[in-house]
Amino acid sequence: MAKAVKLRVRLIAWTQKPQQTVAAAIRQCYSPVGADDLRKKISPQQQKRLIKMVIASGHTSTIEHASFTFAIEGISRSCSHQLVRHRIASYSQQSQRYVDLSREELRYIIPPEINKDQKLKKEFQEAMEKVEEEYRRLIKAGVKPEDARFVLPNACETKIVVTMNARALHNFFRLRCCQRAQWEIRNLAWQMLRLVRKVAPDLFANAGPSCMTEKICWEGKFSCGLWKKIKGAQLKKRQ
Ligand SMILES: Cc1cc2nc3c(=O)[nH]c(=O)nc-3n(C[C@H](O)[C@H](O)[C@H](O)COP(=O)(O)OP(=O)(O)OC[C@H]3O[C@@H](n4cnc5c(N)ncnc54)[C@H](O)[C@@H]3O)c2cc1C
Repeated sequence: MAKAVKLRVRLIAWTQKPQQTVAAAIRQCYSPVGADDLRKKISPQQQKRLIKMVIASGHTSTIEHASFTFAIEGISRSCSHQLVRHRIASYSQQSQRYVDLSREELRYIIPPEINKDQKLKKEFQEAMEKVEEEYRRLIKAGVKPEDARFVLPNACETKIVVTMNARALHNFFRLRCCQRAQWEIRNLAWQMLRLVRKVAPDLFANAGPSCMTEKICWEGKFSCGLWKKIKGAQLKKRQ
């Protein structure tokens, strides 16, 4: 029977010593000595200072040397569609062509707005069960998964591996941790941010929506108003 599932994000790999690597790359730009020698001499305090400086100055090509790989499950196809719009990244997504989803229950995501209303939730679950039934019927009739999938909804769960470097992640967090981003990708972005902060706190100390990082909300009349609660923050409209 079709089954509702929840978001599960794991950080499964990342550049060894990501902050030391980035700090050595920053120092390399101004040093006659090679990065291998430089990295051994950089103290954690210097690392922190160098990283803070490049992020504040916007010279962030140096933070591209640190990459992070996430295993993501329990997101809808509608969320993954938004995620893969971020082009500066690598993706490997579960295929609806090669994976016959009728072998297990159809897994789907329920939006919180629907989940909190018992009547709507029941109707939604019934709709998913009907979809599952139709998908199975097509597969049983000999239709290939690549064609049977045409009856599947945006709510259908997907699994995806994502690798982004720290610069691409900063851009991703700026756009997707913002209240203006859709709830599902926003939840995903915040979980990813928490995970990378654990392994590279200095690199991501100032990552997140622009109201928190730059103290500027760029959303103009669409602003959620959160900037008002942030000391020194201001509202601006893109020209
Ligand atoms: C709130 C919100 C609403 C959205 N609504 C819509 C919508 O209605 N319709 C829609 O189609 N999309 C929408 N998007 C998606 C959005 O337009 C971007 O495609 C998505 O956020 C990826 O951002 P990005 O291009 O900065 O990221 P990436 O693709 O990772 O690119 C990172 C950066 O690299 C540079 N870059 C990448 N590729 C190029 C290139 N080809 N040329 C020049 N520079 C490049 C840019 O500086 C870019 O910011 C929305 C996004 C958000 C956050």
